[in-house]
Amino acid sequence: MSEQGVFDIFVIGGGINGCGIARDAVGRGYKVALAEMKDFASGTSSAATKLIHGGLRYLEHYEFRLVRESLMEREVLWAMAPHIIWPMRFVLPFHKGGIRPAWLIRLGLFLYDHIGGRKKLPATRTLDMRRDPAGRPLKPLFTKAFEYSDGWVDDARMVVLNARDAADRGALILNRSRVVSARREDDHWVVTVQPVEGGATSSYRARMLVNAAGPWVDQVLSNAFGVNQVHNVRLVQGSHIVVRKKFADPRAYFFQNPDGRIIFAIPYEDDFTLIGTTDCDYNGDPRDIRISKEETDYLCAAASEYFAEAVRPEDIVWTYSGVRPLFDDGASKAQEATRDYVLKVEDRDGKAPLLNIFGGKLTTYRRLGEHALEKIEGAIGAKGKPWTAGSKLPGGDFPETGQPEEVRQLRIRYPFLSERHARRLVRTYGTRSTAFLGAANSMEDLGRLFGWDLTEAEVRFLVETEWARSAEDVLWRRTKLGLRLSADEAAGLDAYMRETFRPAA
Ligand code: FAD
Repeated sequence: MSEQGVFDIFVIGGGINGCGIARDAVGRGYKVALAEMKDFASGTSSAATKLIHGGLRYLEHYEFRLVRESLMEREVLWAMAPHIIWPMRFVLPFHKGGIRPAWLIRLGLFLYDHIGGRKKLPATRTLDMRRDPAGRPLKPLFTKAFEYSDGWVDDARMVVLNARDAADRGALILNRSRVVSARREDDHWVVTVQPVEGGATSSYRARMLVNAAGPWVDQVLSNAFGVNQVHNVRLVQGSHIVVRKKFADPRAYFFQNPDGRIIFAIPYEDDFTLIGTTDCDYNGDPRDIRISKEETDYLCAAASEYFAEAVRPEDIVWTYSGVRPLFDDGASKAQEATRDYVLKVEDRDGKAPLLNIFGGKLTTYRRLGEHALEKIEGAIGAKGKPWTAGSKLPGGDFPETGQPEEVRQLRIRYPFLSERHARRLVRTYGTRSTAFLGAANSMEDLGRLFGWDLTEAEVRFLVETEWARSAEDVLWRRTKLGLRLSADEAAGLDAYMRETFRPAA
């Protein structure tokens, strides 16, 4: 048994929901531990379309509560993390006889503009695509469009920054640690955790457990808790393709498909376009998820309906897939299953409660955390008040619109950084960039260069402050430099990390 006494709350799962709940709870004064079996955001939370959005499409399914809550979160989250979240305008082209009548879309956008407490984001407007630059990469058939506001987020970074902040506030944060069993003992839980890279198991005691294992939530209930016949979540696969930049405009596109679904084409990492997503039921292990040929063909065909120059499978430079852990509301089609979240508490005669989290979106994670904390207070007693609205995630302590100024200041302090490099650092670490740039006067002072602009100083910082352990953590979750490094360069980073940060024998 660990020597750390009894935790108030033990969270299973280091995705956005687990890390968000842990951060909120520790900030209110609870004693918190969290275990993630792989890397933070290695599940669904790095596989999203990466939008902080109300979800225009959910209006069609009458999900007004969810849409309103999500819309309201856009400006709250932007203020909380302006380094990794920023506004984005979306262009929704249409033509006569299209999938949905223009008046219906305009009505949806009117609601979108008005039900969500929008203050800083600009309102919807209509575009003449024959004149607007947004019309250029598209087929001439699309003469009109609506342009509306939503937000962009670096999903994996939002997760790790919640974990970092929770740890800074005193939470015990364990990565690469799988919860293998949880049993009630008198009025508390005994949780057994197995380090996945080997080593002895540890046990922790906690007054309450939170199961935030996302797509694995049912698996945790059956494997760790021994509950039979669990079927709370419906796993719905979604895949994305990344191609070389299809258009120069900073706005994203919202395309409607003949099957009633929609896809986005989004400017991505300066030189790329992100296209997604799909919606198909999934029955395998969430870890094994891969894009299928059908999904690749579907995304290429759907985007090619709009772009003048077709998107072909051979244009794809990267793909990723994830599973939405949707609460199973019995909807017949995957795309119609509710995107809202459901929180359920169960206990034994009022003792040792368990809170299960079903569903949720990146956009609603902070509000989901607040709702979870209401359940936690009801079960084990209240501590502090809600505090996360108006808070800052690490590195986000500058004004919402202050990114360009942060880049400028960083280049004044470190003149050897190129504009591109400084911009990447600000959009990744915000004000924390200086923590590893330190007193450097040249790129050489930052140590070995692994490829592109990834230096040893940055890698060490990620290992020491963000739990990075492998090249994959660094290249695909803490950053997206996986798109930039060659296979040989990535192998060089991997060898360096193995050699330098090998766990003590
Ligand atoms: P996860 O991120 O999967 O986290 C669960 C974690 O639990 C995993 O890291 C896993 O390793 C860990 N775990 C499991 N079992 C154990 C165990 N026994 N011990 C320890 N750890 C364990 N939302 C938006 O707001 N905007 C979008 O644009 C958007 N797009 C999306 C597109 C797609 C294709 C998908 C799939 C989802 C999208 N979402 C979007 C939804 C959003 O990504 C998810 O709702 C959210 O990431 C779920 O987070 P989570 O923490 O519940 O799950």
